[in-house]
Amino acid sequence: LPYADGDFYAFESLLSEAERTRLRDVRDWLAKEVRPIAVDCWNRAEFPMEIIPKLAQLDMVSPVRRQGYSNLFAGLMHAEFTRADTSIATFMGVHDGLFTGSIEALASKEQQDAWLPDIYAMKKIGAFGLTEPLGGSDVAGGTRTTAQRDGDNWILNGAKRWIGNATFSDWVVIYARDVADNQVKGFLVDTSTPGYTATKIENKISLRTVQNADITLKNLVVSDDFHLKGANSFRDTNKVLKVTRLGVAWQAVGQQLAAFDVARRYAVERYQFGKPLASFQLVQDQLVQILGNAVASMGMMVRLAQMEDAGQAKDEHSALAKAFTTARMRESVALGRGILGGNGIVADYEMAKIFADAEAIYSYEGTHEINSLVTGRAITGLAAFV
Ligand code: FAD
Repeated sequence: LPYADGDFYAFESLLSEAERTRLRDVRDWLAKEVRPIAVDCWNRAEFPMEIIPKLAQLDMVSPVRRQGYSNLFAGLMHAEFTRADTSIATFMGVHDGLFTGSIEALASKEQQDAWLPDIYAMKKIGAFGLTEPLGGSDVAGGTRTTAQRDGDNWILNGAKRWIGNATFSDWVVIYARDVADNQVKGFLVDTSTPGYTATKIENKISLRTVQNADITLKNLVVSDDFHLKGANSFRDTNKVLKVTRLGVAWQAVGQQLAAFDVARRYAVERYQFGKPLASFQLVQDQLVQILGNAVASMGMMVRLAQMEDAGQAKDEHSALAKAFTTARMRESVALGRGILGGNGIVADYEMAKIFADAEAIYSYEGTHEINSLVTGRAITGLAAFV
């Protein structure tokens, strides 16, 4: 069927020929390696460690900075990852966007030369430790983890919550408040260092395959060589978040395309009253609402990718994208879930997983409300959240 891929306005045609070919290869790879295992991993709440060497072979870490692809390619690729499975997309979003992004944006040249080759090759897997049990939305003011300078070392103490990949990652970037100047600084911590403990957060109803951890840091010693030389205030941390928020908005696109895929297929195949569900006017309207939401989200992201390429995207641009696309996503996955009727609440039919995973996307990397308020500040000149 035409339009079955959901790219109704052919946004992919804006990519170069080489990018289109690469995107097609990645899509085929995801259909073969990720989608078939996704529901089972989600049900068992286990991360498929065997996927890591395969992802390393796919060689997709740092597509823009290292490999020279456009931001549109990087965004569409992340949407495709999400369309195949939101958990695997989030694993990559943490390793590539948050962790690698921190090193690329905030480490010195010498530090980058020493660390990035293993990170790009996925020989070292990373995590991003910013959120704390008492510091979520107010993470700038709420960072209570401390860093105390001690000769050539720093001593870290505190707790982090929700840290993706941290149960098995080799490294984690920890953001901690320097007791001397009260600023939030960044450190690359080897997870085998004494004083580091990570405990898996159990019983999640969303992104069950992703391993999120509560981390405790007890008198953990880290050499000053591992202090990210450009991470010296929350303003620096925010440089990373500005970019990764765009990644999450692309996830909201992928999530809606996944809902469209599953709901459209189901509506065509399932018969009631002697006809396919898709032949009923109300059901067609619901499918069109999902498509409209997905395509509107995509259009916004396509323009934003162009602005990123031109170095014009500001905090408020990412914030509106995250707030808008995730709100549309919530509508789309609810419509999709409804189209599957009772089967829409069983993970085996994929839609229940898509529906539940949307909730994490809605809340992480700045909740919907916080991103709305960042945008509100830009259009009124009044900050409503500080
Ligand atoms: P809270 O800040 O307690 O907010 C609760 C509610 O209050 C929300 O609805 C919020 O919008 C609202 N609220 C708060 N303040 C205001 C206000 N001023 N005005 C209006 N409404 C307000 N963090 C990391 O550092 N690394 C990770 O890898 C990571 N991965 C994550 C993965 C998952 C699955 C999840 C769920 C979270 C992850 N996070 C991670 C943390 C995530 O970024 C936070 O959960 C998020 O920023 C919200 O913080 P909170 O959960 O403490 O909610």
